Amino acid sequence: QETINQIAAGEVIERPSSVVKELMENAIDAGATAVTIEIRDGGTSLIRITDNGCGIPKEEIPLAFLRHATSKISRVEDLLTVSSLGFRGEALSSIAAVAQVELITRTEHSLTGARYCIEGGEEKSLQEIGAPAGTTFLVRNLFYNTPARRKFLKSPNTEGNYIIALVERMALSHPEVSVRLLVNGQNRLHTAGNHKLKDIIYTVYGRELTKELLPVQADFPKIHLEGYVGKPLVSRGNRTYENYYINGRYIKSELITKAIEAAYHGFVMQHKYPFTVLHLSVDPELLDVNVHPTKMELRFREEDAIYQAVYDSLRTAITGEEL
Ligand code: ADP
Ligand code: MG
Repeated sequence: QETINQIAAGEVIERPSSVVKELMENAIDAGATAVTIEIRDGGTSLIRITDNGCGIPKEEIPLAFLRHATSKISRVEDLLTVSSLGFRGEALSSIAAVAQVELITRTEHSLTGARYCIEGGEEKSLQEIGAPAGTTFLVRNLFYNTPARRKFLKSPNTEGNYIIALVERMALSHPEVSVRLLVNGQNRLHTAGNHKLKDIIYTVYGRELTKELLPVQADFPKIHLEGYVGKPLVSRGNRTYENYYINGRYIKSELITKAIEAAYHGFVMQHKYPFTVLHLSVDPELLDVNVHPTKMELRFREEDAIYQAVYDSLRTAITGEEL
């Protein structure tokens, strides 16, 4: 209850990419090693997500669709540990409220699976069926019952591009998970799930960029960094290529952006920004989280230590010298 009070309730689902984000996080939380995402019409008519995770026992399905039904955390401080991405127990209920949802799932040890249909928050059916182990969600006609929100969406092409960018980030943040994305039946992304971050960068950004990467790996008290950064030559006119993940989450932080750009100072021209894919593992006791329904604001308890860790390890990578 305390936790729920600390978490502001509100709208979780803004657009098709929000559905994909929540369902992919659930799949990863369920221990999936492979996740397939299929979208039609920018996700407005269909989003299908299949995982090979732990599945949901039939008797627990209706419960999972209740607001604030989560078994994942008991303390807000647990939010930024690597153990789970979901925490609010709001995603399934929010999605089911504004779409036609079909769920097919089976746990590893159950002989039969289950199929559950819920539309506009109204339960339609729950029956036993044969199914592979894991979970498939089909989300059809998002916002079919809320025309005002449907009207607010951009073109299917633009919504589709948001989803592609999101899935790429999810793939980059979870090198241990094989991620496959199909857009209108066309293969758009497929990562191996072999833990090799460089392979994923290659898959997402292509060969040219991948040739120009410098590895980063560094340990500091309570902070571990690893990933790749672009040679100073590979810089862009905007920040879209500054990727970093904190404990497996894509989170924006002014402090980290500043540290990255300071490390490149003198190496890239003004108004140019480096390419980075950095994974920061930070002891949760250094983090202070302020939770909103759709985003997380992050503050660091020891700002100087984080800044210096990022700065030093990037500077070492760029100059090739230990500081
Ligand atoms: P949260 O992720 O915050 O716990 P959600 O509404 O996203 O809340 O999901 C509710 C619950 O449904 C989860 O806690 C989990 O037990 C179950 N669940 C959802 N998706 C999956 C999945 N793909 N595989 C296994 N269990 C799932
Ligand atoms: Mg969730």
